[in-house]
Formats: sequence, structure tokens, C-alpha cells
Amino acid sequence: MVNVALFGPPGAGKGTQSAFLIKKYNFFYISTGDLLREEIKKETKLGLEAKQIIAQGGLVSDEIIVQIIENTIKENPGASGFLFDGFPRTYVQAYILEGLMIKMHTALNCLISIELPEEDSIQRLLNRGKISGRSDDNEQVIKNRLHEYREKTLPVLNFYKEKGNYKALNGAQTVEQVNFEIEKIINKEFSKELVNIVLFGYPGSGRGSQGIALAKKYGLEYLATGKMLEEEINNKSKIGLKIQKLYESGELVPDEIVIQLIEKKIENSKDIKGFIFKGFPRTLVQSYILDGILQKHGTTISKIIEIEVDTLTLIRRLNKRSLTPGCMPYDSSTEKIVKRLEEHKMKTIPVIQKYKETHDVAVINGEDDFDTVFERLAIEVKEKLKDFS
Ligand code: AMP
Repeated sequence: MVNVALFGPPGAGKGTQSAFLIKKYNFFYISTGDLLREEIKKETKLGLEAKQIIAQGGLVSDEIIVQIIENTIKENPGASGFLFDGFPRTYVQAYILEGLMIKMHTALNCLISIELPEEDSIQRLLNRGKISGRSDDNEQVIKNRLHEYREKTLPVLNFYKEKGNYKALNGAQTVEQVNFEIEKIINKEFSKELVNIVLFGYPGSGRGSQGIALAKKYGLEYLATGKMLEEEINNKSKIGLKIQKLYESGELVPDEIVIQLIEKKIENSKDIKGFIFKGFPRTLVQSYILDGILQKHGTTISKIIEIEVDTLTLIRRLNKRSLTPGCMPYDSSTEKIVKRLEEHKMKTIPVIQKYKETHDVAVINGEDDFDTVFERLAIEVKEKLKDFS
């Protein structure tokens, strides 16, 4: 997910550029100006409060802005991120945006400032006023808007300069040139993004074999906590012996161990496009751990995929697996298989349910043959790996 804020004085071309960017990147677009005009048109309480201030070229209170954003923002399945236009416009709003991003389990990649001399702003807005029908595009109000921009909005730049995610460009160029420069910045942000896929499914749903195949095909790192634990067992390490005992009784391994192993794996994975997580998170606690680990490494979950398979098919598949020589200790008897299915239902299904409320979760039918299911999964993964450059 890439989140961008377009910044600049009135008339800098934020709205024009936004239209191009939404089309190209499929952003979830939030223009506080548009939202306010919508509230005014509908004559809502917020609209009535804002109307006078906008007509005079002042800034609407931060309280009103929070409310309209709260009313608008929701999860954005399918969108590649948020595009903010005309927000943040005050120092307080910069903090509001930070909080909002945390709430959405993400972060602002950059604030792109389209810089334009005041005379150009005035000229453009007067020209726009002839066709826009906007009551605030007249000379006196324009002057007030620019005054507000200078006094209250420009200081916002310091917030982002300090954070180091501020980018500036010359807005006095042609629309095409400005667009080219903005897209260059955004493409770079997309290329830096790690693509983190979380693969869910009951034991026997094919998540392991599919995860390995997907990782191989798309240059992702397959991060399967079960496999990592197995390696510890094979190495007969101290942790490995502990894990062996837990496995034999069908219990989960303590989170402290799992965290250490995941951290080690992420730190050792350099120059990769992202991860496919399999078998983690398995519990609600682990879903918080994953958020924490990813945030620590400056990244987030890109996509959650659940492979859905009928229980009878699962049992049939797991039973067949239990008869093979390489069968894992946790799959070696009906009793253990049933216990694993129960564990998944009790502990992991609530995690998926929680994610369905907050994230983009694709539910994939895993009943068909391997290649058919792989193709279904590949569509979801490819969507996230889209190269915009
Ligand atoms: P815009 O369409 O972005 O030029 O916004 C038009 C007017 O809406 C501004 O002059 C302000 O009065 C108001 N407005 C829009 N966004 C904000 C904001 N983030 N904070 C305060 N007022 C805003």
C-alpha cells in the first residue's frame, strides 16, 4: 500500500493531478474540499457550519475535518493506497493524518508539494472562477485563501521535512510535466514496497504447497513458521527438542520462540520483493505480533488470502498424507489431525474474521486441482506486484 498526500497552494493543480493518479494507481481518493462541498450541497449540519468559512476563504476547523474524514474513510479493498488532496492543511491535521494511518495499519509514504508562486495561483484561480462556478474563486476570497495558506498551511511542510518524507516539485510547468514528476516519485514508492501476503487455510487446504509455488514464481520469500520450527527439530537444537514434544501432543509452540525465528528470517532476507506468510498468524495474539514485526521493518500486510476447502476434502487429503513416509509427527494419526483442525477452527478462524473487518481478504476456492487453484491465487498476488514504472 502506498499513501500519498498532495500539497500546494490553491490553484497548484492538486485536483487535476489527482484525477490522473486515481486512474493510474487506483487510489482511494480523499479531497477534504470536495467532501466539504458535498456536505454543503446536502445541507448537513457539518455543511452548514463550514459554508460561511469556505465562502470567506478561511480554513474549516480541525474538528470538522476529523468528522468528515471519519465519515468517509473506510477500508479500501482493491485500492493501492490513499491519496489525500487538500489535507493536511494545518499542523494539527498532520498529527490527525498520522493517527489515521496508524488506525488503518499503514503509514504515509510521502507528501508531494506542488510549488507555485502566488501570482500564478491568483491568475489560475481567477481563470478557473470563470468556469468552475466556485464561489471562493473570486479575487478577495482568493487573497484570503492564500493568506491562510501562508500562515497555517505552509508550516505543515516542516512536519514532513523533519520526518524526511517531503518531496517538492515545480508546479509552474505544464500539467504533463508535473504529472510525470509526481508519477516518478510515486513509482519509486511502489518499487520500494515489500509485498506481504498472508496465506490462510485449514491444514490440508494446500496453503503450504501453493505458498511455496507462489513464492518461487514471484520472487517472494516463503515464511512458514511450521517449516522453520521443523528445521530447529532437525538440527536437534535445544528449542528443537522442546518443539518436538509440543508437536507430539498437538499443541502450539510459544510465541516467544516463533517471534525470534521470524525476526531472524526477515533480517536475513535481503533484496527480496516481499514475503508469503504461511501458518502465521495463527492466533489473535500473533496477529498483533505480525503487525508489530512488520511495522518495525517499515512495512505492512499487502493482502490476505484464505483458501477455502470443504472439511471432507481436508480429511481425505490429510488422511492420505498420514500414510506417506515423510508424514510429519502432527499428521500421523486421526486423533492428531482432528486436533489440528479443531485448533484452527477455535484459534485461527477468529483471526481471519477480524482481518475481514479491517483488511482486504480474498477467499479462494481450493477444491480444484493444484494448477487451477494456483492460477486463482496468482491473480491476487500479481495484482499486488504490479509494476507501475
Ligand atoms: P479546496 O477544494 O481544497 O481548495 O478547499 C476549498 C475550501 O475548503 C478551503 O478554502 C477551506 O475553506 C476548506 N477546506 C478544504 N480542506 C480543508 C482542510 N483540510 N482544513 C480546513 N479547511 C479545508
